[in-house]
Amino acid sequence: MNIISAPQFNGKAHSKFQALAKPIGAICNIDCSYCYYLGKQQLLGYSANDKPVMTDAMLENYIKQYIEGQNTAEIIFSWHGGEPTLLGIDYFKKVVQFQDKYCPPYSRVSNDLQTNGTLLNKDWCQFFKANDFIVGVSIDGPEALHNHHRTNKAGRGTFDKTMRGINLLHEYGVNFATLTCVNDVTSLQPLTVYRFLRDEVKSPQIQFIPVVDKEAISTNGKWLELGHQAIIPVQGNVAKWSVLPEDWGTFLIAIFDEWYQHDFGKVMVPYFENFIGVWMGNDSTMCTLSELCGKGLAVEPNGDVYACDHYVYPEFKLGNIKQNNLAEMALSQTQQHFGFAKQKSLPKQCQQCDFLFACHGECPKNRIARSIDGELGLNYLCSGWLSFFTHIDPILSTLIERNGYALER
Ligand code: SF4
Ligand code: SF4
Repeated sequence: MNIISAPQFNGKAHSKFQALAKPIGAICNIDCSYCYYLGKQQLLGYSANDKPVMTDAMLENYIKQYIEGQNTAEIIFSWHGGEPTLLGIDYFKKVVQFQDKYCPPYSRVSNDLQTNGTLLNKDWCQFFKANDFIVGVSIDGPEALHNHHRTNKAGRGTFDKTMRGINLLHEYGVNFATLTCVNDVTSLQPLTVYRFLRDEVKSPQIQFIPVVDKEAISTNGKWLELGHQAIIPVQGNVAKWSVLPEDWGTFLIAIFDEWYQHDFGKVMVPYFENFIGVWMGNDSTMCTLSELCGKGLAVEPNGDVYACDHYVYPEFKLGNIKQNNLAEMALSQTQQHFGFAKQKSLPKQCQQCDFLFACHGECPKNRIARSIDGELGLNYLCSGWLSFFTHIDPILSTLIERNGYALER
């Protein structure tokens, strides 16, 4: 696994890894039906009434270790939840102070923060702007589509508050991106979703994520070992809010066609930019479509560290930053085993697939289907991915050859 690479920086070996910090754990002010993280509160040993928060001492320890473990020009912190803005602006002022205290002169720190946008106000926006935060806002489309699953604890839609937050981000010139969950309802209206994000939200970066939730693992946390070193989730029922595989394909195709014909070079859709690069022979910029896992740890409020934020289960705990060194955990044998398992657990159907170079069997958490040979471990979204790849292949091949580049696939 290539977490540490050979080049030198500042006269020392170049060391880089990433982590998602969850300083408020799974606590959130709203209650989306598809949230993969809320159900883990119990699994992590917290009761329903617990409000875990990373203490100042733990926060400082985390920031110190994260900076000291890396030797790069840019050190990127990612703040997730739950809803991190529940911690208040003063908490993130401390974050910036600790970063200033430990960042060496030859590096710079940057921050991104993922939010539902409902608590944003002018003070938050001024803070983000002054400290160069990149803000990710979750919005699922126009009002009816967004409110279908993104409700508050009283069951009311959160659209108005999220849009108010987005308008403030625009007003204060904050660098932001949108993240749209493609679920059972949004997947059926791709152009309505895309045109809304493009024309009304005016999203500087339109990110999509397929919702695939398994009822079985979110309740009992069981895992199955397949083959030599492969670790994949047990087969379970897919929750009703999940996107259907075929709908995932038609969603991507419809938006790709609109984007390619009208918005190419003007509107940033990271999925599509990624695939142009991959068709030219570059590595994927997305972990779900990369060959290996293991490059992004998850850090909980109590300092526990997990292999990935989609694998916050006891079997995938690497240690705790109070007793263990963060960089050593990132580079540990256990984490390398986790990273290579993605490749080693590929079913034969994937190994023989024409689009393995672009897909790599997608995220292992979604490998809950059976292949055409009956082998367990095929990605649930496979048929959608196959339709999409088959559609874009001739278009991207022509584009790349027309511009004088070699096709690398
Ligand atoms: S398990 Fe999924 S989300 Fe986690 S690193 Fe692997 S591909 Fe990425
Ligand atoms: S498209 Fe399907 S068969 Fe091909 S690599 Fe992806 S999951 Fe495997």
